[in-house]
Amino acid sequence: MTRLPLAALALTLLAGCAYPYTPPALPPIGESAASASARATTPRPAADAVAPRAPVTILVSIDGFRPDYLTRGLTPNLSRLAAEGVSASMRPSFPSKTFPNHWTLVTGLVPDRHGIVANGFTDPAHPDARFTMASDQPYWWNAAEPIWITAEKAGIPTATMFWPGSNVAWGGTFHPGDYGGTVTGGMRPHDWQQFNQNVTDRQRVDSIIDWLRRPAASRPHFLTLYFDEVDSAGHDAGPDSPQVNAAVGKVDEAIGRLLAGLAELGQPANLVVVADHGMAATSSDRIVTEDSLVDPADAVMTEDGPYATFRAVPGHEAALEHRLLGHHDHADCWRSPAMPARFHYGRNPRIPPYFCLAQTGWLIQAKRPDAPFAKGTHGYDNADPAMAALFIAQGPAFRSGVRLAPFDNVDVAPLLRDLIGLPAGRGLDGNDAPFRRVFKR
Ligand code: AMP
Ligand code: ZN
Ligand code: ZN
Repeated sequence: MTRLPLAALALTLLAGCAYPYTPPALPPIGESAASASARATTPRPAADAVAPRAPVTILVSIDGFRPDYLTRGLTPNLSRLAAEGVSASMRPSFPSKTFPNHWTLVTGLVPDRHGIVANGFTDPAHPDARFTMASDQPYWWNAAEPIWITAEKAGIPTATMFWPGSNVAWGGTFHPGDYGGTVTGGMRPHDWQQFNQNVTDRQRVDSIIDWLRRPAASRPHFLTLYFDEVDSAGHDAGPDSPQVNAAVGKVDEAIGRLLAGLAELGQPANLVVVADHGMAATSSDRIVTEDSLVDPADAVMTEDGPYATFRAVPGHEAALEHRLLGHHDHADCWRSPAMPARFHYGRNPRIPPYFCLAQTGWLIQAKRPDAPFAKGTHGYDNADPAMAALFIAQGPAFRSGVRLAPFDNVDVAPLLRDLIGLPAGRGLDGNDAPFRRVFKR
């Protein structure tokens, strides 16, 4: 494809914004007398056809992609991005689950503060409702503003090819009523899609490329893209399974398709490829049963798995606490607000009052399983390397071949704000410090 670099037209979208990275000025091109006279008689192509494209930012999430999956020799495209850009092993926020971490990545707040405290929870302020991964009533989400809303408010068009919360009319008001109630007000990304696991990787990538085919005036400047199959395979068969390897290879192919599509359009992009958490092997041999932690007469278990939450049967608080609190074989239990400070978790009223975290690889369950299994899960201690998440950033904003020390995923939203040209957020739990030395200047 021919690129005619016209420095004067370049990057109007980014002009005047607080942006730590300044794209290099494109060199002027020389023009022969022959081509100048041809230009005088040939109708000028539309500005879009000739103007160099401003870099866009694409945030890609590969659910459950542990950084060491890159060392399996299955990822030519992701490994090339890592070699040409910036890579790290990123610490998820606690709990290392999908919805809390996806919301952290786009808000810069820990789950205790942004309110998506688990994949499923209740809220004393809404006693008749339960949050699930399908909940789109704004009140669940309104405590923290996602970056696509900040961008839209600043006049920067956004488009999301799936992301938890991207289908929510953010900031809107829910009115209960027939057929699930209604929502008034609120904002969404300019383009968004209702989550559907049956949309293939290829369709997801092609949607991004199609959005970027639009004329400059209606082209998104910040986009998200989400893949779920590495996580699904990790749950079904464990992180060291051939199924995970196959899923890793498939997603890498999709990344290759994305890169080819961008190259064909001549669309420069700053790619930020992340995971929400890692994956640990679980087994029917590593079960902590509920009755080893509590007397079922004292407590109701409200969530199980890599961690368990409990509520006391009214009047049984003292008995429950006597038996539950402290260290057990393969699990530790706390009153939620007294969890160790490093988790930054436990004070939000949406978190049940008692919290037990299993040792990585163990599961807290009501009963022993009926049949043996070897699978995988996440939700464990966010400092455990098994829970670490992929991070790769590559594109015109970034230096090449930089390996960063591990950092917390609350720092990703501040990085995205820099890339998009938004001012640094106020009151966030993260900042862009890990990335300052990796911007090309
Ligand atoms: P987890 O239980 O934490 O492993 O959650 C992973 C699952 O979340 C994926 O397999 C998806 O099916 C689901 N998921 C991811 N994104 C969304 C979304 N935007 N809306 C609903 N479900 C989603
Ligand atoms: Zn996940
Ligand atoms: Zn998962």
